[in-house]
Formats: sequence, structure tokens, C-alpha cells
Amino acid sequence: MIDPFGREVSYLRVSVTDRCDFRCVYCMSENMTFLPKADVLSLEELDRLCSAFVRNGVRKLRLTGGEPLVRRNIMSLFKNLSRHLVSGDLEELTLTTNGSQLAKYATELVDCGIRRINVSLDSLNADKFKELTRWGELDKVLAGIRAAKAAGLAIKINTVALSNFNEDEIEDLIRWCGDEGYDMTLIETMPLGDIGGDRIEQYLPLSKVRAKLENTFTLTDIDHKSGGPARYVDVKETGRMLGFITPLTHNFCEGCNRVRLTCTGTLYMCLGQDDAADLRAPLRASEGDDLLDAAITEAIGRKPKGHDFVIDRAGQAPALARHMSVTGG
Ligand code: SAM
Ligand code: SF4
Repeated sequence: MIDPFGREVSYLRVSVTDRCDFRCVYCMSENMTFLPKADVLSLEELDRLCSAFVRNGVRKLRLTGGEPLVRRNIMSLFKNLSRHLVSGDLEELTLTTNGSQLAKYATELVDCGIRRINVSLDSLNADKFKELTRWGELDKVLAGIRAAKAAGLAIKINTVALSNFNEDEIEDLIRWCGDEGYDMTLIETMPLGDIGGDRIEQYLPLSKVRAKLENTFTLTDIDHKSGGPARYVDVKETGRMLGFITPLTHNFCEGCNRVRLTCTGTLYMCLGQDDAADLRAPLRASEGDDLLDAAITEAIGRKPKGHDFVIDRAGQAPALARHMSVTGG
């Protein structure tokens, strides 16, 4: 699949549910209205959609959410999709998780061919963790991460940098990741969805974080490319990789290789744009896949060049109305 700007689309992220057992302050408001269950694709339908993308050239598939591991029977989807790993059509099947259910599922994930996972963790302080996630328990997440490591999964920790919140903890998190053998990615907050607060207070530019880190660590730019928005450095003191995802201070769109599917079958060709394609109608219209393949080709043909996020004025509406839990980040 080649888009109008010559970029090959080989990476699909699928939000398998918009629901979550946490309510992170930058992601959701406390009282979220979730999609009616009837609007959400069944696991069989999600399998059919993902498989259509694999047939059309997707080589990497990431399940996300909401929290993917809270969707009932989600392991059956991982298990079914693993056939594309066995056939060699898919290079990687992975997930992004908050870690709360990892202790339960780590071994099964490995059995489904998953080799590495991203776990979101913004603080190692139990009280702060609770404040940030509203409903999360740090101990449970740490136990989940340990279980994943013990099961043999490679782990990357995703940390959202928040001003006046975990700003002072970032160095500790980098050291902890080094000690435990995890890579780490720092993420800037993105203006997605009404979260019942003011984002300007959360926004912490990673350029500032990096400048501060350089007083403590030796950071060397490396050429590791994920086809995504992260730029990587090697941290000499820990021997691990550190990524910076800076959608607001750095334009990463030129190398974009990905599209995002929601749990209702809506395809977003860009995280930062509203344009989307409905794949549920062609999916349900027939048992054959011709309509679906045509709809996918048409959608990729409209992938926009890039986004235009801005957070500059206090009190402004989010750049996009939808929450991150809809498209999964
Ligand atoms: N529940 C899973 C988790 O937290 O890892 C998967 C879904 S979550 C939406 C995916 C990632 O998006 C997490 O790393 C989270 O920290 C990040 N995220 C959520 N809202 C964000 C926002 N407004 N700006 C930047 N990152 C955000
Ligand atoms: Fe849930 Fe992940 Fe959003 Fe936190 S960031 S509320 S864990 S979906």
C-alpha cells in the first residue's frame, strides 16, 4: 500500500476497545461515555479486518486501546492473528498496555508469538501513580511488568512527560529502566479529546527534558528508525535506548508508515486529522473481501501529508475531539 506521498503503509494499530480500567488524567475524563457494545466490532470481525490489512501489505500489527487486555476473550484474537506470524506474512504482532493484566496474560502472549511489548508507566511513586491514573495500582503494574520479563518478553516503557508532575522523576525512570533492562520512550502530551482540565499545564516540551537530561547522562543520537514519530538516543550510563516522541515540537510525518483502526472499524489515516474511512460497512456488506479491499485502497489513497497540532493558548479546545483511547496512540 503506497500513499499519495510515496510512503509505504506497512504498520496498522488497532484499538480493540475504547474501555479501560484506568482513567489517566491526560487521556480520559473521570466520567467517560463509552461506545455502546453493539457498535463495537466482534473479535471475529476485527480478525477479518486485520487479516485484510495483512493481505494488503501490513507487516506489523499492534493492538492497543483503551486497554486491550481488558477486552473479554482478547487472547483468542491474539491467538488467531498469530497464524500470520507463522505464515511469515506478518513480521510482528505486539501490543501497548497499561500493564494491569500482564501478570495474568504474559505467558499466553509469548505463546501467541509476541516478542516485545510497550507498557505505559509515568511514575514509580505509588501515590503519584494513583493520582495520575485515578484508578490504577502501581504494585499490580510492576508485578505485571515483572511477569512479562520473566516470560521472556522484551519491554519498552512509555512515559508521558508532564510538567510539574513527573518532570523530576524522569532521571529515576531512566535509571530504573537501565537496571531492569528495558528501553524507554518519552512522549509529549497531545491535544486529543476533552479531559476536563487544561492541557497547557501538562504540556512539557521534550526539548527541555532532553537539555536537562544531558546534565546527567551522555546521550548520543542513533539512527534507529521505527517508521514512527520517535527519535532515539543511546544512554551511555545505562546502555539502553531512549526515544523521544515529539509530535508538537518536531514534525515526524514525512516518514509515517502507519494507519489506525478503531474498534468500530473506522480507519484514521493520520493521528492528527479528522478524515477517516468507514470499513465496517464494506466488512459487513458481504462475506467476500473485494469491497473491503477496495475501501482500504481508497482510504490509503487519501492519507494526508501530515498533522497540525498546536497547544499554545490556555483554555483552547482540544485540536481533535476524539480521545487517544479511540485511536490507541
Ligand atoms: N491503555 C494502554 C496504555 O496506556 O498503554 C494503551 C492505550 S493508551 C491510549 C496508548 C498510549 O497513549 C499510552 O502510552 C498513553 O500514555 C498515551 N497517551 C494517552 N493519551 C495521551 C495524550 N493525550 N498525549 C500523549 N500520549 C497519550
Ligand atoms: Fe487507559 Fe491507557 Fe488511556 Fe491510561 S492511557 S486511561 S491506561 S487507555
